Amino acid sequence: MSVKVTVDEDACTACGLCYNDECPDVFEEGSDGNSNVKKEFQKGGLDKGEIPDDKKDCAQAAADACPVNAIVVG
Ligand code: SF4
Repeated sequence: MSVKVTVDEDACTACGLCYNDECPDVFEEGSDGNSNVKKEFQKGGLDKGEIPDDKKDCAQAAADACPVNAIVVG
């Protein structure tokens, strides 16, 4: 099973919390500093993808930590 994850690129402030601290397994820094879904999990764009179940907790921790609620998991 896989879980959908999206990053709202308009809301993201490029703080780095998700890709540097909370969940570098799922998120990476894009060319503009914004968070992207890691290339290996991308599906349909830089800002969306599907991750394996065992990465869900990590992605959710990033979603919970994001100061502007830009990350949606599931
Ligand atoms: S934690 Fe939120 S605002 Fe910060 S880089 Fe990640 S998605 Fe963007």
